[in-house]
Amino acid sequence: MAEVTLDSVTKVFQDGDDQVVAVDDVSLSIDDGEFLVLVGPSGCGKSTTLRMIAGLETVTSGTITIGDDVVNHVPAQHRDIAMVFQSYALYPHMTVRENMAFGLEESTTLERDVIDRRVEESAHMMGIDELLNRKPADLSGGQQQRVALGRAIVRDPEVFLMDEPLSNLDAKLRAQMRTELQRLQDELGTTTIYVTHDQTEAMTMGDRIAILDGGVLQQIGTPLECYHRPNNQFVAGFIGEPPMNFLNVDHEDGTLVNENVEYSLPADVEESLEPGAEYVLGIRPEDIELQIGGDGGDHLLEATVDVVEPTGDENVVYLALDEAAMGEDSDRQIAVGVGDEEPSAGGSPTGSSQSGLLGRLGSLVRGLGSRGRSSAAATSPDSEGDTADAIEAGDSSRLTATVGGMEQYESGQAVTAYLPPEAIHVFDAASSAAVHNRRLDEVDRAPNA
Ligand code: ATP
Repeated sequence: MAEVTLDSVTKVFQDGDDQVVAVDDVSLSIDDGEFLVLVGPSGCGKSTTLRMIAGLETVTSGTITIGDDVVNHVPAQHRDIAMVFQSYALYPHMTVRENMAFGLEESTTLERDVIDRRVEESAHMMGIDELLNRKPADLSGGQQQRVALGRAIVRDPEVFLMDEPLSNLDAKLRAQMRTELQRLQDELGTTTIYVTHDQTEAMTMGDRIAILDGGVLQQIGTPLECYHRPNNQFVAGFIGEPPMNFLNVDHEDGTLVNENVEYSLPADVEESLEPGAEYVLGIRPEDIELQIGGDGGDHLLEATVDVVEPTGDENVVYLALDEAAMGEDSDRQIAVGVGDEEPSAGGSPTGSSQSGLLGRLGSLVRGLGSRGRSSAAATSPDSEGDTADAIEAGDSSRLTATVGGMEQYESGQAVTAYLPPEAIHVFDAASSAAVHNRRLDEVDRAPNA
């Protein structure tokens, strides 16, 4: 077990005549025995960071330290790490036993019986004792994943490095393995760095999470710190499902305004905002309280239900804050995001099954826009960046709320949405930095508890 430290680590790839900055001046420290999750959208630099720690990629500048040693120039096989990949990377011609023993045979001078004992102990830990004489082709995906983990455990390394190890498993098995991996890491106490793009894994598995975007570290903290105290709009939008709502607003005399919103700020929030400046008002879907009918008013927005998505335990309610955001807006966003279809002419599909489908596709496209935004802009600043901008521009006329599964709402219904002042976040529109995060006393105490 060892502490792992990255100090101003940068990785630049040469891509023909271009340079790709995959990891940009990242500094972070992973404590001895800690489970750290590196998370972010595709292309944000997670795998490159992990591969530099593993020694599979060189470091352009900065230092990586494992335990007391700077390892920048130490070959991978001498770093005392074990890596688990998404692809499992098992040797097809070897049995499970041979796969698990191979690393020890190659890198240690341990006696045969010691190796056998360690393989059997690890196999037992992973519940694969019965599979030791099989070859990988005769195993299910879940069993192969267990072998890959067992092969890492058998080496008893200082550090586990895991790159999306569960993403080839079906949803149920993934949920089961999430819990098992946490238990295992707890039992072994081995420092673990775990890469994923799945924010559910990030929220549930790590002691802390490090969120990357465009190669830049956006925040490192406990999952709940990142959820409730995001450093910026990117973190706020990336962590949480459905994502946080964002409304572009101007600050006028203690009130946040746009064409659909007039939201008076509590005095302490107003104090941290510049008069006349542009901000983004953020509110999580689960913090919005809905009621049927009613008038607007302080912290109440009049809205129309566009689409309702029942998930069983809760309903996700997509709301339009003005007429233009109903149905037609979904059409527009699909046309922008998916292909060259013409927006369907006029008509209000409200209440029809078509509206449901369009709304769902629209929200999917919006979700993809906010998640993939920076990587899209980084790799292809033209069409994909424009798509993300177009999608985001429409967001100020829409809100998503989650309500209990027994609370029924219907498409076309007039509602009022209450945005509790204690639950709002405010971001600077220019820099996207958080200028105010929600109040939540329990969370304020959590880091020092
Ligand atoms: P994913 O979740 O899709 O695997 P990631 O966050 O792990 O993404 P990386 O694989 O670390 O991202 O890639 C970060 C950036 O570096 C991307 O823009 C990628 O295209 C680029 N990149 C990675 N490897 C190379 C390479 N060998 N040559 C050039 N560019 C590269």
